[in-house]
Amino acid sequence: MALTCRRIFQLNNVLKLNKGNVLTQCKRFIGEAWVAGSCIDPALGLNDEQRYFQSLATDFAKNELHPNMKAWDQEETFPVETLRKAAGLGFGAVYCKEEFGGTGLSRLDTSVIFEALSQGCTSTTAYISIHNMCAWMIDEFGNDEQRARWIPSLASMEKFASYCLTEPNHGSDAANLTLSAKLDGDHYILNGSKMFISGGGDSDVYVVMVRTAEKGAAGISCIVIGWNSQPTRAVLFEDCRVPASNVIGQPGDGFKIAMRGLNGGRTNVASCSLGAAHASIELARDYLKVRKQFGKTLDTFQHLQFELADMATQLVASRMMVRQAARAMDDDWPEKICNQALQMHGGYGYLKDYAVQQYMRDCRVHTILEGTNEIMRLLVSRDLLTDGDRKYS
Ligand SMILES: Cc1cc2nc3c(=O)[nH]c(=O)nc-3n(C[C@H](O)[C@H](O)[C@H](O)COP(=O)(O)OP(=O)(O)OC[C@H]3O[C@@H](n4cnc5c(N)ncnc54)[C@H](O)[C@@H]3O)c2cc1C
Repeated sequence: MALTCRRIFQLNNVLKLNKGNVLTQCKRFIGEAWVAGSCIDPALGLNDEQRYFQSLATDFAKNELHPNMKAWDQEETFPVETLRKAAGLGFGAVYCKEEFGGTGLSRLDTSVIFEALSQGCTSTTAYISIHNMCAWMIDEFGNDEQRARWIPSLASMEKFASYCLTEPNHGSDAANLTLSAKLDGDHYILNGSKMFISGGGDSDVYVVMVRTAEKGAAGISCIVIGWNSQPTRAVLFEDCRVPASNVIGQPGDGFKIAMRGLNGGRTNVASCSLGAAHASIELARDYLKVRKQFGKTLDTFQHLQFELADMATQLVASRMMVRQAARAMDDDWPEKICNQALQMHGGYGYLKDYAVQQYMRDCRVHTILEGTNEIMRLLVSRDLLTDGDRKYS
């Protein structure tokens, strides 16, 4: 669904930008964007509406995320208040329907927003993207009672959500997960554990894939659990009673729902990688301009100019792939760009004083979470191999 004018005005009011019309404001923001007008300008090819909310996200990244990025990393902060501010701009349930409090934007719009936010803090944005994926799974597969119960508080980020698929012994092989859910009257009793859960311990709502029937994907269901848990990233269930009415979709639909969630989630995470790559290019560019070796600033060496040009080309190509909803997680260009940007900083790039190492670390993990690169290749080849006959012989 396209961003409606009504919604633009709502967003406009949130920011209290009441002077001038919306598009004037939009242009004003675009004018302030970090790299507006350069060949890697992320606004290229977007329509006015998309540019407007890209500018909202860029502004938020610049003022609310980026100033805290280093401290949050060092102090391992889960920035509750900042996340709620982001939700105030409509970033808590970006692609959920408006009816229950979502922002009602398309996947492309979402990608544009996450890329912009990610430049401010990649790992915080990756969490926002997972929260959004959980909200969408409830919005898409839940019933109206479930939507009304959970979506408004997820959209406002009054409550935070986590996606629970991975288990200690079942990562890539998620279809064989074992966390058991046994029906006892009108409740399920859960036993088992989940691993590597983003937001685990800080979240209030857990979208959990559980085993309700026989082995394999068809025995997996998706159930929502609300609780206040202790701060740990492994999530443990011991005789945990959950109302059967919390099952999303039908029992046995869980694996399908988990994979549908990940399909969008992967594009979101790829968008976060784009943001990290974009920020890294800017950092490398700025560093090359000031660092002197052999009596000249580094930006005068042709080898480094060519490297920079290659990084820009790869970024724009990746962005096109992501924006066409391609599975850009199969491609590691954003990570290579971050890596090359770090290389351009020499030894200083390795030091925690320089932001480029943080973008590199946060981007690197995107080749693991939401399915490793190897599993992405497996999915692409499976798709090709199960495609129908050749159209022309
Ligand atoms: C920072 C972070 C956040 C995460 N957040 C979440 C979250 O919020 N929710 C959640 O559910 N999970 C989350 N995960 C877990 C993530 O999805 C898993 O780590 C990932 O799916 C890989 O599983 P694994 O770590 O068990 O590795 P394994 O599955 O053990 O894989 C090990 C290696 O073997 C390769 N491999 C495995 N099978 C094959 C095969 N058939 N062919 C070729 N290669 C193969 C893998 O690609 C990998 O390189 C997160 C992980 C990290 C690091």
